[in-house]
Amino acid sequence: MIVGTGCAGLTAAIYAARASLSPIVLEGHEPGGQLSTTTLVENFPGFPDGITGPELIMAMKAQAERLGARFSYAGVEGLQRAEGFLRVLVDGQWQETRSLIVASGASAKWTGLPDEKKLIGHGLTSCATCDGAFYRGVPVAVIGGGDSAAEEATFLTRFASKVYLIHRRETLRASKIMADRVLANRKIEPIWNTVPTGYLADDEGEMRAIKLQDIRSGAERELEVKCVFVAIGHTPNTAPFRGVLDLDDNGYLLQRNGTETNIPGVFAAGDVSDHVYRQAITASGQGCAAALDAEKYLTQFEE
Ligand code: NAP
Repeated sequence: MIVGTGCAGLTAAIYAARASLSPIVLEGHEPGGQLSTTTLVENFPGFPDGITGPELIMAMKAQAERLGARFSYAGVEGLQRAEGFLRVLVDGQWQETRSLIVASGASAKWTGLPDEKKLIGHGLTSCATCDGAFYRGVPVAVIGGGDSAAEEATFLTRFASKVYLIHRRETLRASKIMADRVLANRKIEPIWNTVPTGYLADDEGEMRAIKLQDIRSGAERELEVKCVFVAIGHTPNTAPFRGVLDLDDNGYLLQRNGTETNIPGVFAAGDVSDHVYRQAITASGQGCAAALDAEKYLTQFEE
C-alpha cells in the first residue's frame, strides 16, 4: 500500500508495480501533491523546455497505471502493527497490508491570524496557480521570502496590477536565480522587515486589506489588496502516524537504513520525511528507494 500521489508516491507505485507487488495507491485529500499546484517545472531532468507540475504528475500517474498500480480516492487515518502485517485505517475501515510506503507529503502552512479560516477561498489562498487568474488588474500580496513566495509572486505578475511581497527579513531566503527574478520585476514591490498582523474583509466577506507591522519600528498600517497568497512553508502530513511512527521535533517522519521507519515494513519517502531537499526529483528518488526497500522486505513472505 502506498499513501500519497505526489512524485514520491507515484514513483514508488511505478517501481512497485513493475516488481509485481500489486500496489494500491491511496490518493488522499490533496491528489497529486504539491506539484499539482505548481506552474512550470524547469529543473526535472528530461524536459529541456520544462513541463508543468500537473502534466508531470499526470504522466507519472498514467505510467504507474499502465504498469498495473491501482488508485483509490481514500485517505489514511491510522496505523497499527500486527504479527507479520500492518493494519491501516482507510476512510474508517481497517485494511491489512504487508508493507506500507508513506509518501503523504507536506501541506502549506498558514499564518494562524484571526479570521484566517473564514477568509480562505475569499481572497486568502496558498495557491497562486489555482487562484491567481481570479485577480486580474488588481493589487495582491504574497507573504513569505522563500522559493515558494518568489515563484508565486513572479507568477502573479501575469494577472495582478501589482504584487506586494511581504517578508519578515531584509533579504529573500529564495535561491539566487528566483530572488533575482523577483527583484528585477517592476510589478513586484518587496515590503521588508514586515509581518502580517490581521486581515480585513469587505461587506461581502471578501479580502479588502491586510494589516502589516514593521518589526523594527513597530509601526502598523493597512495595505489594500484583493487577495493574499500565503507562501510560508509547509507542515508534513504525518498526523495519522503520530504515536506509532517516530517523528522529529517538526513532525517529519524519521528514517533509518535508507527509507525504513521504526516499524518493519513501513517505509517513508518524499517531503513527509525530507525537510532539507524537498525537490520533485529528490522525492521521486526516495519513492524509488522506498519501493526497492519494500520489495526486499517482502521477499521474506515469498512461498
Ligand atoms: P521555506 O524555504 O521554508 O520559506 C518559508 C518562508 O516563509 C521564509 O522566508 C520564512 O521566513 C517565511 N515564514 C515562515 N513562517 C512565517 C510566518 N509565520 N510569518 C511570516 N513569514 C514566515 O519554504 P518554501 O518557500 O515553501 O520552500 C520550501 C522548499 O521547496 C525549499 O527547499 C525550496 O527550495 C523548494 N521550492 C522550490 C521551488 C522551485 O525550485 N521551483 C519552488 C518552491 C519551493 P524566514 O526567511 O525568516 O525563515
